[in-house]
Amino acid sequence: MKCPFCRVENDRVVDSRTSGGGYIIRRRRECLNCGRRFTTYERIETMPLRVVKKDGSRVEFDREKILNGVMKACEKRPVSMQTIEEIVSSIETEIYNNYDKEVSSKHIGQLVMKRLREVDQVAYIRFASVYREFKDVSDFVEEVQPMLDRERKEREEKQQTEGNNAQQGEA
Ligand SMILES: [Zn+2]
Repeated sequence: MKCPFCRVENDRVVDSRTSGGGYIIRRRRECLNCGRRFTTYERIETMPLRVVKKDGSRVEFDREKILNGVMKACEKRPVSMQTIEEIVSSIETEIYNNYDKEVSSKHIGQLVMKRLREVDQVAYIRFASVYREFKDVSDFVEEVQPMLDRERKEREEKQQTEGNNAQQGEA
């Protein structure tokens, strides 16, 4: 395999594991020329999974698209590349485990939102606002209001504590 960094074809496999319910083999490779690591994927060719889009059209399932979407949502957020990779891999595995031929783009979006919600709320809101295509502002507010309430409550509690401390200081 040609190294994506130095373009030399001289590598060794350092780790290989299956995912997608055994349908995918992921190989971690180390370039023996520059020492950097990269990953390759091996899939069964006779199993093209297709994504059904909202307008009914079908496109081939593309891991990169999910990765790009998650990366974009996590831009300038404290989410490591490793976490992003893990999110995408877990989604990929779940999809391959549950769907043979077709999966809706809507379902993929829901899986992404579920994962992002656990990791970073800002990333989640960003992704949700693009993916759900909120019909109007009230839909969006409905979605984010519980989070905003929670944050405000935390902030108020913190201020109260600080206020108490200040009063004690004056006394
Ligand atoms: Zn290299």
